[in-house]
Amino acid sequence: MLESTLTHLVCTGCQRTVSADEWHGTCPDCGHVLAARYDLERARWTFRPAELAARPWTLWRYAELLPVCDPRFRLTLGEGGTPLLPAPRLARTLGLRRLWLKDESRNPTGSFKSRGLAVAVSRAIELGARAVALPSAGNAAAALSAYAARAGIPAFVFLPMDTPPSIVRECLAYGARVYRVRGLITDCGRLVRRFAAERGWADLSTLREPYRAEGKKTMGFELVEQLGWRLPDVIVYPTGGGTGIVGMEKAFAELAALGLLAGSRARFVIVQPEGCAPLVRAFHEGATRARPWEGAQTIAPGLRVPATIGDELVLAAVRASGGTAVAVSDQELLEGTRILATDEGVLVSPEAGATVAAVRQLRANGWLAPDAEVVLFLTGSGLKHPELLPADEQCPVLEPDADSLPDPPVG
Ligand SMILES: *Cc1c(COP(=O)(O)O)cnc(C)c1O
Ligand SMILES: [Zn+2]
Repeated sequence: MLESTLTHLVCTGCQRTVSADEWHGTCPDCGHVLAARYDLERARWTFRPAELAARPWTLWRYAELLPVCDPRFRLTLGEGGTPLLPAPRLARTLGLRRLWLKDESRNPTGSFKSRGLAVAVSRAIELGARAVALPSAGNAAAALSAYAARAGIPAFVFLPMDTPPSIVRECLAYGARVYRVRGLITDCGRLVRRFAAERGWADLSTLREPYRAEGKKTMGFELVEQLGWRLPDVIVYPTGGGTGIVGMEKAFAELAALGLLAGSRARFVIVQPEGCAPLVRAFHEGATRARPWEGAQTIAPGLRVPATIGDELVLAAVRASGGTAVAVSDQELLEGTRILATDEGVLVSPEAGATVAAVRQLRANGWLAPDAEVVLFLTGSGLKHPELLPADEQCPVLEPDADSLPDPPVG
């Protein structure tokens, strides 16, 4: 049986060590994000390419570097193991030679949020949680709801009123207790924090506990393994709270420490919508922290995150990687989803469409050279957003005895 080599938690702010044997949200001293630490000397014995190659493609194949100690607590719905698809036609459109799509829409609940919540719900239950809660723009709530159902415990989710109805209904279908909040995700978060202690819920808000990032880290492990134990030049990631970036940076650091990655680094490109771009603004201002975005507005719910506790970590990760930050309009990101569907057959959520819009900008301004090897993280499925798909009314209607054929609309 694969063993976790989890040893303790470390505060990313004050560096103090915290026990991993009991539940901790943020640092008890300074309130910063906590990060899991492993015994890499021990992990080294079994966390090796040849051994990994024989394991099933769920994220638990990386169990040595995941925080769930007793295998009986490892919840799975088949998360992870998503395809890394070459995209030659889209590459040509964008003026690139090597372009890959990491298709995270193929996770159990239609977004990469499954990864973080498979791990966080498992670990919370291992440490004694009997109910779980979080604020969400939608996809995290759906994933939490599914894994709580899988575990047989209640989930309480807090969603802004403008969450797509299809995702609210998805949560209800899993049996979650759903609250709709007249406010933004940050307001939902305040409500969860207010009631979690009183009601005995484990609060699984993004980066306010150390284990979701561990699940998201597996995107980094997988990418490196799928590329043959190396990194691409550039990773383009639609960024909300930023756990994906924090998780992947950690994955690459752990692989390097295990001797599984040579010196090269992938440059992170974070993408946010023009209507809510606190991290992009902070990056270009040269700031180490991001001011909250006023009046956040975008069609991409996962990116409607006006403030994040992970701002320092994300900005530091992007800068250390030699990356950059890009804002795109809602119209551009919708155009990105359209091209991914018509040029490559991949139907993605608006967040994911933003990656294509970002590459266009970075090719146009010369930041991206044509020979850069680029990976787009397609974080969610277009099937989660029926309201954004083309309308069926535009299709011509035929009678059964029709004897002429009008031209249907294209795209
Ligand atoms: C949550 C979400 C994001 C943002 O992810 P972070 O890692 O929190 O920045 C991007 N895309 C989709 C589809 C999401 O659900
Ligand atoms: Zn601290």
